Amino acid sequence: MPDFVGAVDQGTTSTRFMVFDHGGHEIARHQLEHEQILPRPGWVEHNPVEIWERTSAVLQTAMNRFGIGPADLAALGITNQRETAVVWDRRTGRPYYNAIVWQDTRTDRIASALDETEAGQIIRQKAGLPPATYFSGGKIQWILDNVDGVRAAADRGEAIFGTIDTWLLWNLTGGVDGGVHITDVTNASRTMLMNLETLDWDDELLSFFGVPRRMLPEIRPSSAPDLHGHTTTHGPLGGVVPLSGDVGDQQAAMLGQVCLTAGEAKNTYGTGNFLLLNTGEKLVRSHNGLLTTVCYKFGDQKPVYALEGSIAVTGSAVQWLRDQLGIIQGASQSESLAAEVEDNGGVYFVPAFSGLFAPYWRSDARGAIVGLSRFNNNAHIARATLEAICYQSRDVVDAMYKDSGVPLEVLKVDGGVTANNLCMQIQADILGVPVSRPVVAETTALGAAYAAGLAVGFWQSLDELRENWNESRRWHPQWNDSERESGYAGWQKAVKRTLDWVEIH
Ligand code: ADP
Repeated sequence: MPDFVGAVDQGTTSTRFMVFDHGGHEIARHQLEHEQILPRPGWVEHNPVEIWERTSAVLQTAMNRFGIGPADLAALGITNQRETAVVWDRRTGRPYYNAIVWQDTRTDRIASALDETEAGQIIRQKAGLPPATYFSGGKIQWILDNVDGVRAAADRGEAIFGTIDTWLLWNLTGGVDGGVHITDVTNASRTMLMNLETLDWDDELLSFFGVPRRMLPEIRPSSAPDLHGHTTTHGPLGGVVPLSGDVGDQQAAMLGQVCLTAGEAKNTYGTGNFLLLNTGEKLVRSHNGLLTTVCYKFGDQKPVYALEGSIAVTGSAVQWLRDQLGIIQGASQSESLAAEVEDNGGVYFVPAFSGLFAPYWRSDARGAIVGLSRFNNNAHIARATLEAICYQSRDVVDAMYKDSGVPLEVLKVDGGVTANNLCMQIQADILGVPVSRPVVAETTALGAAYAAGLAVGFWQSLDELRENWNESRRWHPQWNDSERESGYAGWQKAVKRTLDWVEIH
């Protein structure tokens, strides 16, 4: 058995390739950003060809730099930004349109029209999701309706759809020369097109969006030996490695955080925040604005489900301070700037740039900074940005408690923002429970490696994975209850100010 497992983590802002050993330690890594294409307010696109080039480049660079060959890899896993939709020509490999990114709100009319009919309830029931711009189904419909010739090409079987995992797997396995057209249950569960119980595309759901079944990939488990074909000798790895793991990024982080038992939860702080609670083999339906999603499926075992609270804008609000406002030079400076003040000085920032996701699901919301007085300065804005990350997580934790009845005892965290110690302290203060960060912060890539490695016997049991998890740091709440409650009341008031801002109907 080779010594390592590799994982591609194709995220919203960048693509990483990482190599891990049996202890879950990082052996190699390379990472490249890609362009965020913002053609109009609310529109967010990526160039799928650039994403494939970046993926090839990070694979090759990491392997060369660390002297790793394909024979050193027992398996390769893929994890990806979810919901982002690509439609391409299977004969040429060329996309018909840019990838429409999960944050894009152009499908708000499609989503709200569905929600006004009984289709909305059927989508909730069958797919476990509220009709929203976030998910892929409306994005595919938009491309079919708005890009010349694509509908006819889809009817002829030439135009095919994929989330980013599907696009990369197709390219990694040969592209126009027989590339496999597949996805996994976790990614498929984010389209509004898959039935959560049958784990298959659902004709009624497809009819709501006018999506022909033949353009869709085959749905496979998240982890299975030789499941996804092999990378070819022509691929960027330069050799044959089993592709045995494919899992959406937030579900991958669940694996990386070893949330493998019902009742275990984690919160990932990246571009957005994603809090997932493992509900085991039980499909729990939310009454409080959470999503029901597939957590993972190992081979022919039963699927494991999760409840999820997805927040669109958290770390990307920090990027906005850097790129649009220019009040910080880099993301880490948000911590030193916010630390210049003791509190938010009455300022709340609700970064509803893509509307509000969980638990509100309001595509008519837009961002607002409220409570300003002449006294306030950049430091208050920075502090309010970090608080917004944490208050949005509090909204989701409260919803999770209402749905599950299980009180949170400790919050396991990961992702880029967790490098910000002040933000993690604020999170413990706002929640009133400790926050715990593991040694390996790259839980998403690690989770994809686990999915791939479990399938080929590199890891033999889930207990081996549990042994690999170690805490690096824990933050304890310092606020008293009344500080906590008055702070949260201010946040709830601020959220109300952002609603009903854009006209959708
Ligand atoms: P993704 O996988 O979604 O691309 P990452 O987990 O790589 O995200 O996290 C990147 C995000 O984390 C960026 O939005 C960035 O603004 C934010 N970030 C990184 N470092 C810090 C920091 N020290 N403080 C606050 N935010 C940070």
